Amino acid sequence: MSSKVKIPEDGEPIVIQGGVWKTPNKPIVLYIEGDGIGHDITPVAIEVINKAVEVAYGSSREIKWVRVYAGEDAEKEYGNRFPEETQALITRYRVVLKGPLETPIGGGWRSINVAIRMMLDAYANVRPVKYMPGLESPLKHPERVDMVIIRENTDDLYRGIEWSWDSKEAAKLREFLKREFGVELEDDTGIGIKPMSKFKTQRIARFAIKFAIDNKRRVVTIMHKGNIMKYTEGAFREWAYEVALREFRDYVVTEEEVNKLYGGKVPEGKILINDRIADNMFQQIITRPENYDVILAPNLNGDYISDAAGALIGDIGVLGGANVGDTGGMFEAVHGTAPKYAGKNVANPTGIIRGGELMLRFMGWVEAANLIDRAITEAVNQKKVTQDLARYMGVQPLGTREFGKALMEIMETLKGK
Ligand code: NAP
Repeated sequence: MSSKVKIPEDGEPIVIQGGVWKTPNKPIVLYIEGDGIGHDITPVAIEVINKAVEVAYGSSREIKWVRVYAGEDAEKEYGNRFPEETQALITRYRVVLKGPLETPIGGGWRSINVAIRMMLDAYANVRPVKYMPGLESPLKHPERVDMVIIRENTDDLYRGIEWSWDSKEAAKLREFLKREFGVELEDDTGIGIKPMSKFKTQRIARFAIKFAIDNKRRVVTIMHKGNIMKYTEGAFREWAYEVALREFRDYVVTEEEVNKLYGGKVPEGKILINDRIADNMFQQIITRPENYDVILAPNLNGDYISDAAGALIGDIGVLGGANVGDTGGMFEAVHGTAPKYAGKNVANPTGIIRGGELMLRFMGWVEAANLIDRAITEAVNQKKVTQDLARYMGVQPLGTREFGKALMEIMETLKGK
């Protein structure tokens, strides 16, 4: 197959080993435009990210973007939605900014999003949720919302080990449980298995605490339902604490230590590590969002709390996220392809720009990431927004490209500040 992709000669790969990122000054980053509104938002996101890098570092640093194909585009170019060439490049370069990709429900092709996650062994789903003044939140004090949910991506009920009530396998398992353990289940019982591994728990805990240290966060809360599911969720809690105290002793304090040794106040420069029961947390992130910072969650809890937290800021369309492992990462918007807005220059590119911001943080290009954050906040503050927000702010909307331009102009004004 002839190659449709050209790698810039002066670019170098980002090297990620054991979760440590080594970013050269001209790193090669792959991007997939995505389906639907992907064609509108991804090119704008790239311009905005480039501008942030330029404003932060002048000509000393520059991302060398390489477009790779997946989804509709790949179907046109290669006759295949996820071509071998794209897969080989992802395996080689390992950092991808990805526009949304369509996944059909109940049939059709398999999710390319999941395939990329697996190729990168991206076991951590990272989703920052931070309020921006101007958004219509259901909370009285939405400005107190600034959390990052770090969700385990590969374990738990999502491993899909389950059987329908009327299958041979479920019947066999029911019989086994009765015979071996004296556990009797009704004959109409479907069965799902909830596996939680110590290795997988500890690597996500390590990831979350390291993230908290690198990004100067205050608290890491272990979210679990260990009072009921003692040997899975309860073990998750225990194993996470074990990593915190064994590997990050100099950085963390537990709640117990804070109360016993420090008069209830977290000592300067330390990260508080605590745990909360999952159901309790759903009310607490609403009533006391300021108490939550980094949330470390197993797969299922993380899935639920991500959307609930997103709702607190009033609009999940503006959130970015990432799937990251020890050797690579894929960065994206939380939303999908919004087909009704495709090609109309009306979609909001903030989600994928936030995905890019997160990518810059992992790359260690924090100054550029901060510029993006400040520019987005300032744009909303100045009521420069796309139609999704303009319609309830009662202002004239900007188009996708015009919003991107507004962000770049704001960054110019932030130069050196
Ligand atoms: P969606 O694409 O997120 O769109 C749902 C609605 O959210 C839109 O109709 C629009 O709402 C609003 N919206 C989302 N993004 C927006 C943006 N950037 N700007 C303005 N409005 C935006 O969800 P979906 O319709 O459930 O999914 C469509 C396809 O996307 C599916 O094939 C799904 O599999 C895929 N998907 C992909 C990813 C991914 O690649 N990571 C994630 C989720 C879904 P209004 O009607 O209120 O204006």
